[in-house]
Amino acid sequence: MSGPFLLSARALSLKPSSTVAVTSRALELQKAGVDVISMSVGEPDFDTPEHVNAAAIQAIKAGKTKYTGVSGIPELREAISAKFRRENGLDYAPDAVTVTSGGKQALFNAFFALLNPGDEVLIPAPYWVSYPEMVALTGAFPVAVPTHPASGFQLDPQALEARVTPMTRMIVLNSPGNPTGAVFTPEVLKAVAEVAQRHNLMIVTDEMYEHLVYDAQHVSIGTFAPEHTLTVNGASKAYAMTGWRIGYAGGPRDVIAAMNALQSQSTSNASSVSQYAALAAFQQHEKTTQFIGVALRAYRQRRDRIVEGLNALGLRTPTPEGAFYVMADTTPIHPNELEAARIILDDARVAVVPGTDFAAPGQVRLSYATSMENIEEVLRRLGDLLQQRGQEE
Ligand code: GLU
Repeated sequence: MSGPFLLSARALSLKPSSTVAVTSRALELQKAGVDVISMSVGEPDFDTPEHVNAAAIQAIKAGKTKYTGVSGIPELREAISAKFRRENGLDYAPDAVTVTSGGKQALFNAFFALLNPGDEVLIPAPYWVSYPEMVALTGAFPVAVPTHPASGFQLDPQALEARVTPMTRMIVLNSPGNPTGAVFTPEVLKAVAEVAQRHNLMIVTDEMYEHLVYDAQHVSIGTFAPEHTLTVNGASKAYAMTGWRIGYAGGPRDVIAAMNALQSQSTSNASSVSQYAALAAFQQHEKTTQFIGVALRAYRQRRDRIVEGLNALGLRTPTPEGAFYVMADTTPIHPNELEAARIILDDARVAVVPGTDFAAPGQVRLSYATSMENIEEVLRRLGDLLQQRGQEE
């Protein structure tokens, strides 16, 4: 039964996140005893490193469980400022850094701090489902800039510039990218930075997967156009800290100040305990780097196996250079990716995210942040599914 109140136009226009929806559905099925393997969740299967957990426990024992400043504890902002310098060659002073409840809140605050209704925002497609939805919530318009499997989803700066209009305000980048795993080359990033400078656009670059690169090099676009760039990142993917909800951003001080004002009226601050945990990840960076190295070796083996296995089944899958996702062409299962994902869930008991909300028709996303045993079992189940469907035809 619906209640007496009408929902807002914003709520009615908003599409719930399909990555979160499929992941929740897989968890429900698993809870109900169905033997579903989830390849949907964009979440490391590693435990949070021990030195990070220990710092959080220590923080709780020391009573660091109260509000913090809106932009985060000063020690953490200093550690993030040092991290930006050490790992990215970016010069963001601690007061040009803000800490948020996950990368999503940093993006949300950034879009609301920078966009007006009617503005246009260029987003390379396939894109992560939440960018266009968040942009549209502000009243601005997301404008997709297509990239293609044949070029490994590399961005063409000329195709980007061709979509600039007098209403364009912003470019959103995500490299290494979710869902494609594409890593934009330094040349491409430099050219995109020049487009931003020529047309006075802001670049919001989501670098959440920066450490997860295999055959490529991650470069921060902020090194080419610092005054035009807001760099967003977080602890979730690199340090296996998804549940702690720690995101952060560095950029021009006035943008960071506006983001802080928004945060002061919404969540106040990221969890104090999580901030102390993240502080350990940054301060004890040798231990953290070691952890990342172990995870990266495992992801690389899994990537190689899943790409080879899916292609061998006739589901065309480019080899991604970064992150922990692959995009598989599921048209041999069904021409429509929503139907294909449904069949894969119902008949093969494998949860995947349909490409629809990523602007990737005919494809589904599989996350390989799961064990090699699961990957082998998924390939076996998909093989059975294809064989069955072949026999039915
Ligand atoms: N970014 C991850 C994904 O795409 C986590 C879920 C989400 O926030 O969308 O699966």
